[in-house]
Amino acid sequence: MAEAFLALGGNIGDVRSTFHRAIAMLCDGAAVRLLARSSDYWTPPWGITDQPRFVNAVIAVATLLSPHALLERAQSCERALGRERGREPRWGPRTLDLDLLAYDDIALDDATLTLPHPRLFARAFVLVPLAEIAPERIIAGTVVRDALARVDATGIERLPRR
Ligand code: ADP
Ligand code: MG
Repeated sequence: MAEAFLALGGNIGDVRSTFHRAIAMLCDGAAVRLLARSSDYWTPPWGITDQPRFVNAVIAVATLLSPHALLERAQSCERALGRERGREPRWGPRTLDLDLLAYDDIALDDATLTLPHPRLFARAFVLVPLAEIAPERIIAGTVVRDALARVDATGIERLPRR
């Protein structure tokens, strides 16, 4: 089994229940098993800043799927939960974005997948929830907690569990 981290984000609809459904769909308990789930966080919009704030979270999974198969499964969850890729501007509003952050210690970069996620270390909205569940994890030579210390996490608010 490999260990992978995925980031969830969204700012359209009832995002927290979308996350709940996405995690249930992604983690069938066989090929993908949920190991840990962060809290949900309100986060300021990034990229295009004139849009509603996002909810973000991170999960850790144990998986038998290859990195590409896991990405495909994540993308089919996005589609099933109403994401219309192609009709949305990049970094614009969306019901669900599911990104693969890291997969064991694999480094790869091809047409559909880059690992670790190329913008991971720039994104407080990913590092805050990731550091909640895996502060000691080393990704590309950097301890997650140290990566978090280097970004500006202003405006990120942890939501109470529900
Ligand atoms: P973003 O996540 O940057 O907001 P998208 O979700 O629209 O943008 O993803 C754009 C493309 O990024 C996807 O079609 C996917 O093939 C590619 N991609 C490359 N590396 C990754 C990764 N680690 N996780 C998720 N998508 C990735
Ligand atoms: Mg994405």
